[in-house]
Amino acid sequence: MESGRRSGGLMFNVLGSRFEAVFGSLRREVRLTPDAVERALREIRLALLEADVNFRVVRAFTDRVRDRAIDRAVLDSLTPSQQVVAIVRDELLALFGEPRPGLASTGARPQVVLLVGLQGSGKTTTTAKLGRWLTKAQRHPLLVSTDVRRPAALDQLAVLAETAGLRVHAAEGNSDPVARAAGAVSAARTLGFDTVLVDTAGRLHVDDELMQELTAIRDAVNPSDVLFVADAMTGQDAVKSAGEFHHQMGVTGIVLSKMDGDARGGAALSVVSVVNVPVAFAATGETLDDLEPFRPDRLVSRLLGMGDVLSLVEKAEQAVTRDDAAAMAERLRRNAFTLEDLRDQMRAVIRMGPIDQLLGLIPGLGRVAPDAGLDSGGVARMAAIIDSMTPRERRNPSVMNGSRRRRVASGSGTSVQQVNRLLRQFAEMKKMMKRAVAAGRGGRRNALRAALPR
Ligand code: GDP
Ligand code: MG
Repeated sequence: MESGRRSGGLMFNVLGSRFEAVFGSLRREVRLTPDAVERALREIRLALLEADVNFRVVRAFTDRVRDRAIDRAVLDSLTPSQQVVAIVRDELLALFGEPRPGLASTGARPQVVLLVGLQGSGKTTTTAKLGRWLTKAQRHPLLVSTDVRRPAALDQLAVLAETAGLRVHAAEGNSDPVARAAGAVSAARTLGFDTVLVDTAGRLHVDDELMQELTAIRDAVNPSDVLFVADAMTGQDAVKSAGEFHHQMGVTGIVLSKMDGDARGGAALSVVSVVNVPVAFAATGETLDDLEPFRPDRLVSRLLGMGDVLSLVEKAEQAVTRDDAAAMAERLRRNAFTLEDLRDQMRAVIRMGPIDQLLGLIPGLGRVAPDAGLDSGGVARMAAIIDSMTPRERRNPSVMNGSRRRRVASGSGTSVQQVNRLLRQFAEMKKMMKRAVAAGRGGRRNALRAALPR
């Protein structure tokens, strides 16, 4: 299933299936030997290199995994392959550094956010997306462009802002970047905007003149956030320029733009570990609503084939009502998720939009989906099967014997095989949810152990 477009793009789909294959063969080993670990590591290394992850990052990563995995305590344990998978999860997470999603929390009003990066990396688009995101959080952003060298750049931000229903500090006739940024901050103070988003000029390569301009803006407006916008589609050059910007500007977070593209994208992943600045946001699509705070634990879960309970609950919150979503989260916690809940979720998912983006969010579906025919027709069929069951059967599927299965199949216009498959998938999902929910409690270490696929 093509489910990973949302938080990932092609790279993460490809990496995800490679990891699943590696872990699959690890799990088939009865006793784990250093040789088997080495074979798995070779596969993982290749997968990361093919995704264009920086080779130093890959080497450090595989070294760390090897050090921890080839340890008597791990190899002689009762569940060696699970432990190796856990180590890989841990170290993948470590690649992303200490998570710091979203903007800095600061009492400063207005809070000033500076967006910097190379030309074409997506600064102007991200400025508008960030404005949208803030508006949804009941904030009041004022946008300003300091890209005065290209008149079209000012218009571009104005047009995007208009589409997004956002206010721009126009400062017509003012062609001094520093004065424009400072003007926006005082206008925001006067007019009651709580955030100022400063879109800046870029160049094809880092140059001194640009750095001086950006540093002068920074010193004039004292931003809480300096976001480096990195185009996920560009290769290792992005890593180098991120380093230079960070060195000169003190970058506080990275925005990965164009994650929806067909890039291998590994360069973006390297930026984090090379520059040692966390990813604050990821742009997951072309519309102005496609920007989300970056949560590495979720991405890593998705990469390793787990569903993503938290994202599911969040999406559901937007489409269903807050109360429904809270109730579902509570049922998940109590492990009381039933077939009826599944059906309601599927209906909500269909309402929520492009189905391939969302199905991957249902825990366990990522794994069971390839043979499940999970287009909207497939989902409608699964909902029909559940509809044909009695309330008692839905709440307790273990009563579903052969004759009940035949009855439900004919009632829903499906086959007994399809009914069997749904019930099997549901059982699998319950197991995964239980682990994922357990993962929500306790520290991350425990969470990783608990959330392992077995
Ligand atoms: P800037 O020069 O850094 O301001 O970059 P722009 O914001 O002007 O973006 C450059 C190009 O990339 C434009 O054509 C944008 O539409 C496109 N773009 C920016 N962000 C994204 C994204 O997240 N996804 C996709 N598909 N395109 C993007
Ligand atoms: Mg621009």
